[in-house]
Amino acid sequence: MPELPEVETVMRGLMPSMQGSVIARAQVNRPDLRWPFPEHFAERLTGKRVERMWRRSKYILAELSSAETLLIHLGMSGRMLVSGDPLGNFVHEHPATEKHDHVVLDFDNGARVTFNDPRRFGAMDLLDTATQEQHKLLAGIGPEPLGNQFDESHLIAALKGRKMPMKSALLDQKIIAGLGNIYVCETLYRGKIHPARRACDVTENEVRALVPIIREVLSEAIEAGGSSLKDFRQADGELGYFQHSFDVYGRDGETCKAPECGTQIARIVQSGRSSFFCPSCQS
Ligand SMILES: [Zn+2]
Repeated sequence: MPELPEVETVMRGLMPSMQGSVIARAQVNRPDLRWPFPEHFAERLTGKRVERMWRRSKYILAELSSAETLLIHLGMSGRMLVSGDPLGNFVHEHPATEKHDHVVLDFDNGARVTFNDPRRFGAMDLLDTATQEQHKLLAGIGPEPLGNQFDESHLIAALKGRKMPMKSALLDQKIIAGLGNIYVCETLYRGKIHPARRACDVTENEVRALVPIIREVLSEAIEAGGSSLKDFRQADGELGYFQHSFDVYGRDGETCKAPECGTQIARIVQSGRSSFFCPSCQS
């Protein structure tokens, strides 16, 4: 499932084709994904210019000239493909439509953006731009970890007295936006905190130390995603899934990367999801 860095990478990959361009044609091939598409979806997109693109948590937002904003959520398996890229030196012909190409947007600059999602856990919606942050998907989300509102005092206050395990606390989107299983595991490893430790038992100093760690873990992944964008035009035009090496995620049974540790990375299941950690480095 894409997390914040993957979504940021997809958005950055879409921007050259979408931002400032007009949707010349919108093809909507089914009535719904996870939820029904908005009424007259294709008509409301057609002829509108994408004024500005940004990301909130794991949602991509494209503000249109019609005072509506197109919300894109990749869900579990959603993929965005760009073809006919006007800026690329490696122009792809538009590929033949595939079975799970649910929404196809053709821009006036010749670019085509296709949303493909075999499992249909993704979503697209249109929001009033003026009130978009009150939309049910966006209201109540905690601060962006890379934004100014996320800081030590916020995290200390949010975790104070909470009996839930640290793993669950950092996954809670009301506490912090956009973190998922992978980057929470990586954050707790660097913070030397056991994923099952109760949030209320983590010291203020340890919580303070997590703020720059979270930023670092996400920024490194976004950087890796950025380098993948340089290559994607030469590949198949699919955005957002890049090679990235993790310290603990998916490494159970392998040796901890900390110098002179030598312990095997362990895996436990918490709330139905795998947590990877070093039993020696994290307590
Ligand atoms: Zn270790």
